[in-house]
Amino acid sequence: MDILESFWKHVDKRGPMDCWNWIGAIDKDGYGRFRQKSAHRISYIIAHGSIGVDNYGYSLMIAHHCGNKKCVNPNHLCATTSEGISQINMKKDYLGLKLKDIIDITNQGLLKKGINKLPK
Ligand SMILES: [Zn+2]
Repeated sequence: MDILESFWKHVDKRGPMDCWNWIGAIDKDGYGRFRQKSAHRISYIIAHGSIGVDNYGYSLMIAHHCGNKKCVNPNHLCATTSEGISQINMKKDYLGLKLKDIIDITNQGLLKKGINKLPK
């Protein structure tokens, strides 16, 4: 079995906008683990090729728009900074925005800030 096949065996895959829960090992913080790495970060890399870096050269964080730490659906993940994560949580909790709106706004915000190394 190749590594991708083995990865997706641990995912409860559903519709494109649904959460895809990780059904393998979970770390102490509640995130999926696959071969000593965070499952949601691996899922992002599978979908986009790489995780970009911020203006200082640090690897970006991978945030969940859905707030579900076990979720590895690439449509629910975005590469962002810790500031970006606070913005996502604020929009979700206080403004009651829908998932798609948050993704659109967050992506526009990141582009404006000059985070230009996001994978396409
Ligand atoms: Zn999700």
